[in-house]
Amino acid sequence: DSELRRLLVTGGAGFIGSNFVRYWRNTHPRDRVVVLDALTYAGNRANLADLEGKDNFRFVEGDIRDRALIETLLQENAIDTIAHFAAESHVDRSILSPDAFIQTNVVGSFALLNAFRTIWEERGKPQHNRFLHVSTDEVYGSLNPDDPPFSETTPYAPNSPYSASKAGSDHLARAYHHTYGLPTIITNCSNNYGPYHFPEKLIPLTCINILLGKVLPVYGDGQNIRDWLYVEDHCRALDAVIHRGQPGETYNIGGNNEVKNIDLVRLLCDLMDELAPDLPTRPAQDLITFVKDRPGHDRRYAINATKIKTELGWTPQETVERGLRRTIEWYLAHLDWWKPLLSQDYQDYYRKVYRA
Ligand code: NAD
Repeated sequence: DSELRRLLVTGGAGFIGSNFVRYWRNTHPRDRVVVLDALTYAGNRANLADLEGKDNFRFVEGDIRDRALIETLLQENAIDTIAHFAAESHVDRSILSPDAFIQTNVVGSFALLNAFRTIWEERGKPQHNRFLHVSTDEVYGSLNPDDPPFSETTPYAPNSPYSASKAGSDHLARAYHHTYGLPTIITNCSNNYGPYHFPEKLIPLTCINILLGKVLPVYGDGQNIRDWLYVEDHCRALDAVIHRGQPGETYNIGGNNEVKNIDLVRLLCDLMDELAPDLPTRPAQDLITFVKDRPGHDRRYAINATKIKTELGWTPQETVERGLRRTIEWYLAHLDWWKPLLSQDYQDYYRKVYRA
């Protein structure tokens, strides 16, 4: 459809949310975008600095559990589309302290669905409205090496408090379509990487530690497999889903790029040796250190993205090597973005997780 949209983007100051907002404004400049974000440790207004004060853009600091606030925002801004990214997103943090994951991912998503339902019903259930629930492939659990990749019909088997909380919200989004007819759509995507990725996650952590000459912790035997997708490819997929996806459906999104963690870290080391001048340790691979495995660590994730490819015509455009080069170049050019994020709180968290 070519109609203008008015989007509420929850979690728009986080990694994928901020990339999505920037992508959306470049691709659909006449649409209005309102960001709602609670600015937790992972939310950062600097991620949207270039958009502040621009036409058709508004930032609101607030919590998705605040149903009254959300109803007001939906009405005031005549929102027709919610792109729901807000979440606690880091598996290691969910193992240390799961409470916030249930609060934001389950209770918060529930509040958002209820607020959207109220307004959607008051308006007479407009066809054009959408609630996009952005979720993860981790809800499907772990694959063995020879298993086929996850499809939309793979049974849910979440293994971490994070994936269990996301599974809970996926089920609510699905039920709100089934029971009330709410136009919800769920996407389950593989691991993203790219600019504005918080330092705790594997790819930025590896790049930043190499720049600082710190050891590169690799969990267990390093043989865990993830399917990596460049964040802009994810944003393009979500665009296709918002404009052409069917309410009530689920779409899996993946890059067809299965890589073992240890191979990914080695590739990053090689790229850093090539791209970064004056590294404290060369070759960077000398910094690799195997550490005690994450409890309950899923072995392998892989996505079958045939449905979104055939029904909505989406395909990823970035290769892993090119996407990693772009990402590294961004981190090398944005020390002023990531250095302030390595706060005392971050150091405390880091020591707890890696016992380092
Ligand atoms: P992130 O942690 O970088 O960002 C989350 C954002 O949500 C932050 O800006 C934070 O301030 C905000 N937030 C947290 N709690 C909130 C609350 N109660 N109210 C309002 N805002 C709140 O996460 P991300 O990596 O950008 O992930 C975004 C979404 O995509 C999540 O729902 C995640 O489950 C999903 N996802 C992520 C990946 C990935 O690889 N990162 C892959 C698939 C799906």
